[in-house]
Amino acid sequence: DLARVTRALLSVSDKTGLVDFARALAARGVELVSTGGTHRALSEAGLPVVEVAELTGYPEMMDGRVKTLHPAVHGGLLAVREDPAHQAALAAHGIRPIDLLVVNLYPFEAALARDAGYHDLVENIDVGGPAMIRAAAKNHADVAVVVDVADYPAILSEIEAGEGGLSAATRRRLAGKAFARTASYDAAIANWLAGEAAPDAAPAFRAIGGTLAQTLRYGENPHQAAAFYRSPGPGRPGVASARQLQGKELSYNNLNDTDAAYECVAEFDPGRTAAVAIIKHANPCGVAEGPHLAEAYARALACDPTSAFGGIVALNRPLDAEAARQIVEIFTEVIIAPDASEEAIAIVAAKRNLRLLLAGGLPDPRAPGETVRTLAGGLLVQGRDAANVDDMALQVVTRRAPTEQEYADLRFAFRVAKHVKSNAIVYARDGATVGIGAGQMSRVDSSRIAAWKAAEGAERLGRPESLAKGAAVASDAFFPFADGLIAAAEAGATAVIQPGGSMRDAEVIAAADAAGLAMVFTGHRHFRH
Ligand code: 5GP
Repeated sequence: DLARVTRALLSVSDKTGLVDFARALAARGVELVSTGGTHRALSEAGLPVVEVAELTGYPEMMDGRVKTLHPAVHGGLLAVREDPAHQAALAAHGIRPIDLLVVNLYPFEAALARDAGYHDLVENIDVGGPAMIRAAAKNHADVAVVVDVADYPAILSEIEAGEGGLSAATRRRLAGKAFARTASYDAAIANWLAGEAAPDAAPAFRAIGGTLAQTLRYGENPHQAAAFYRSPGPGRPGVASARQLQGKELSYNNLNDTDAAYECVAEFDPGRTAAVAIIKHANPCGVAEGPHLAEAYARALACDPTSAFGGIVALNRPLDAEAARQIVEIFTEVIIAPDASEEAIAIVAAKRNLRLLLAGGLPDPRAPGETVRTLAGGLLVQGRDAANVDDMALQVVTRRAPTEQEYADLRFAFRVAKHVKSNAIVYARDGATVGIGAGQMSRVDSSRIAAWKAAEGAERLGRPESLAKGAAVASDAFFPFADGLIAAAEAGATAVIQPGGSMRDAEVIAAADAAGLAMVFTGHRHFRH
């Protein structure tokens, strides 16, 4: 299924690696054709190359707007090699097939990033390039299309190994990449014309002087346009400040989840303990402390390994080799940490798709700031939830007061509950979550889910009793009825932390006493809708 490469059309704005690539092709006897600037670069390097104008019989015109838009080019790209009628058309019009197309587009995104003016941006909209890319990608049965300079070495070695040909699998993969490129290119243009990306957030961010950091391929779903704006000023260390060492571009959902993960793990003072948070869909599926990151990771993972698959892992200390070795064992989308050791970076490098983000620091969980959310016709702005359980005066409301160990787990559980979508119920034992119930419309349902997860955990470990047995449980808001608390007691919890303040507090406290629970009120709730 090899398709031989005998004639290549090169038309690139980014000329990185061009001459070496073309020279290697020419050395294999591949005939080179190219557009004005590319032709100049190649002939100056002493390579034999034919100008597209020679093929089309027209000069490049209208400031390059019309260069390759001609049947001599598109017929050569689109003709089906095995179709006699297509071959006859080629012969009748004196068109010769093109087997390899190498194009990178006018740098529209770069122009956008440097805040180019309107006319400059319009001139940076490539027309002929995407047309050729789409033609070649459609005809991948016969034609290979390269849109990324990073692919040159791999393409060359495959041509070397394949006696001058490229496999069907490669051509198909390249075609997929080509359509992804034209789609994101067009999305960037569409977003710009629609009012500089994410239609709702843009005016608000312009108003506070925010800058466009990244045009995203799409939002939460593929039919939603999206962009990532950076706030003015230094800001908190996190996704917006992080250096990405490897892996694909982050998506809207990745950015959102990574932010949730890092904000959660930042609640744990790295001077006191190592901590790891594993996040899925912006909710923690496991959080744990430990003497070092590897142990904290293992304990966080044990909470819900099924949900952790494809998750985001956030660490409160620099990633070390031992933790890295464990994390790469499991399919993970993103790792974010303040920093990483050389050895850890090398270990993660073996997983090419895994993104590694180094934020350069850990945000202060108590720092002030704002969160913004849009609603139809307006914006909701609020101060961020900077409340910290360590600053709350915990009030014992039951006959029994928590033990030291219970106090530690209660604080831990409430710290995590702050980062779980409401209604949030978190079971914790020895500084690790053992069951998390998130995002339910009733608190008792969250309690049931958390208890069920803790029971599942015990089954996984072959323990006779649920992991909720002897655990501390946190509720992000008060129990409106005794039922949620009774569910926790039945699951085996021995201590409870919750804001208090329900009309039925007396009932809830009586139920806790009846079950022998120790319960504390925080006076602060951590809703997160
Ligand atoms: P060169 O530097 O070789 O003169 O131009 C290369 C660039 O021109 C590439 O980015 C390619 O996508 C673009 N290009 C090729 N053909 C056409 C065309 O017909 N119209 C426009 N607007 N751009 C083209």
